[in-house]
Order: sequence, then structure tokens, then C-alpha cells
Amino acid sequence: AIYSATKFLGGFSDLLAGAVLASDPELIQTLTGMRALLGNILQADECWMLDSRLSTVALRMNRQSKNAQRIAEQLAKHVRVMRVIYPSLFTDAAQIEIRDAQTDYPGSLLSLEVEGGKTGAFEFLRGLKIAKNAVSLGGVETLVCHPMTTTHSELSPEELSAAGITESLVRISVGTEHWRDLLEEFTRALG
Ligand SMILES: *Cc1c(COP(=O)(O)O)cnc(C)c1O
Repeated sequence: AIYSATKFLGGFSDLLAGAVLASDPELIQTLTGMRALLGNILQADECWMLDSRLSTVALRMNRQSKNAQRIAEQLAKHVRVMRVIYPSLFTDAAQIEIRDAQTDYPGSLLSLEVEGGKTGAFEFLRGLKIAKNAVSLGGVETLVCHPMTTTHSELSPEELSAAGITESLVRISVGTEHWRDLLEEFTRALG
């Protein structure tokens, strides 16, 4: 199993790390050898930071997921929001099956399509204060971004369309702030 520790495990968008786990001792030995060759060994201070954050990862993720679910379900009813993409709002049977088989709760990431295309999306992003405009995810601070011009700017028009990334799409990684403050801010920015 390979995990990114950069996102939820780190939780504060302040370190880059990963974890590779195996149960087979021979595989672990091979991996350890490869790690020694590549030299990608985490610094002591980052190990210390990461270790102290493991005790709160479940608490943070639980709060972030609850926040995101409340926000996603409210924003889905907003007149200026054309579409909200979030696991608790899935309607497609295959998506629901995957969600129920692979997740315990819907998580802290949601995307929405705002009325008014790229201009509408940018105006929405400019209207936010608590939520910061940045491309990372999984931290305690709420981050928002416009995927087409940031995280997915390298994709061709065909790839963007296949991935469902439109000009009006905004991604939100919900943090641990109070969900009512965030919802109020999102609603105000939409208006
Ligand atoms: C996710 C992310 C990375 C890469 O981290 P991984 O450990 O590969 O997941 C690097 N920089 C930023 C800003 C990121 O959000």
C-alpha cells in the first residue's frame, strides 16, 4: 500500500511525505534497499511532526467530512450552483456502489459548477476570505481552486472533457473551521 502523507496524514499543508507498507518481509527488504539507493529518507523534524499528527487524523477527517457534507448538501440547493459533485449526492448506481464499498464517510472534497462559466467561477473565488485560493487538499484550512487553470492545466480539451472538468468547475477542500461560517461565506460569494 502506498499513501501520501502530504495531505490528510500531515493535515496542515506544511510537509511532503509518503508511506509505503508491505506485509511480505522480502518485499520490505527490497523496498528498504531501494529507499537507501534513492536517498528519499524523511528528515527527523518532519518525522516528529508527522508522528504527532497521527493521533488527530481520524478526528480531523471526521470533522472535515461532516463539514463538507453539510456544505455540499446546502450548496446543491443554491440557484447559482448548477451542479455539486460529492459522494453523498451521487445518483448514478455504479458510483453509489463504489462509494458504499470503499468508504466509511463521504470525505472533505467537493466540486461545484458555478453559473457564469469561467468568469462566474473566478468571481466566486475572489469573494472568499476564510477559504484560501490554493491547490492543495486535506489540510485543516479550507482551500479552493479552479482545476482547469491550475491542477489540470496540462490536460488537452479532450482529456478535460473526459474528466468532467469544465470552465465553471471549482474544487473545495473543506477544513476544520465552523461549517456555518464557510457556508455563509460561500453563499455570499455566490450572490
Ligand atoms: C499533493 C501535493 C504535492 C505532492 O504530494 P504527494 O506526497 O505526492 O501527495 C506537492 N505539492 C502540493 C502543493 C500538493 O498539494
